[in-house]
Amino acid sequence: MSGSFVCGFDVGGTKLLALAFDPEDPARWRIERRGPTPRTADDLVKTIVTTIGELHDEAERTKACTHLHAVGLGIAGLVDRGGTLRFGPNLPGIVDTPLAERLVAELEVPVDVENDATAAAWAEHRLGAGMGIDEMLLITLGTGIGAGIVSGGHLVLGRHGFAGEAGHMIVDPSGPLCPCGQRGCWERYASGSGLGRLAREAAEAGRLHNVVEEVGGDPDDVRGEELTVAARAGDREALAVFDTFAWWAALGFANLTNLLDVEAIVIGGGLVSAADLLLEPMRVAYEKLLYASDRRAPARLIPAELGEESGAVGAGLLAVERL
Ligand SMILES: [Zn+2]
Repeated sequence: MSGSFVCGFDVGGTKLLALAFDPEDPARWRIERRGPTPRTADDLVKTIVTTIGELHDEAERTKACTHLHAVGLGIAGLVDRGGTLRFGPNLPGIVDTPLAERLVAELEVPVDVENDATAAAWAEHRLGAGMGIDEMLLITLGTGIGAGIVSGGHLVLGRHGFAGEAGHMIVDPSGPLCPCGQRGCWERYASGSGLGRLAREAAEAGRLHNVVEEVGGDPDDVRGEELTVAARAGDREALAVFDTFAWWAALGFANLTNLLDVEAIVIGGGLVSAADLLLEPMRVAYEKLLYASDRRAPARLIPAELGEESGAVGAGLLAVERL
């Protein structure tokens, strides 16, 4: 396939990332474009077509790659097997548009559309922290929680393509409301916004003195960022919130391991930057919560390696591999 390339897109709630790369050797070169995510399906299709034109020109000029092989999209939300976003609270203007179909008509190359975390899981499995691990999960701890499942070396998609919505496992039916309409979803506790909420709860209960002082005195202004700074400096009240957060994350990891018996849980998303504070308390809590943990090897909890490009890389790889 020398001389050919693939384009992968990560269509996030606010940001769009596009990558062109050689699917035979994704590490050799990459060309990227970034921008805001268009609000309507028509604008998204137009932006993708224009962006691919730019990537094509640059790939031809600088890498002598002239042939666009396939295009892959990773999108936040429920994406069906036909490549249509069926539910996406952050992308209401794109829901129910047959994106794969419309892009194939415009671009005349194969187009594959997936859930963003599913695509990222595939990238980590093929090229990142999950290489060589045939039973693995990717859990992204960002604003929300995304997940992708690899079993027997294959992606698990479920009947419709909706498998892996681990963030909406209900872990406390009387817990806080989730934007999805349910109460006590796992991502209300174990995501970046969950960390912020746990911190504000601690501040309102009179703990986190130093952090509250740092933000000017109002417990409502405490966010995960300030908490992380305080915890790194050794603030015991901040570290206690991290321990609580790690327990909630570990609760989901244990439930998922009980269900799927994976070898590794690869942890991605923005909170990976706090892995130094989180991994150890997560491991301790996880081993306590896991069923029959003294009779089995617990899954390894390992940080993701591909960073924010994993969704676009995985989408591009899947588009080629599905040909
Ligand atoms: Zn939910």
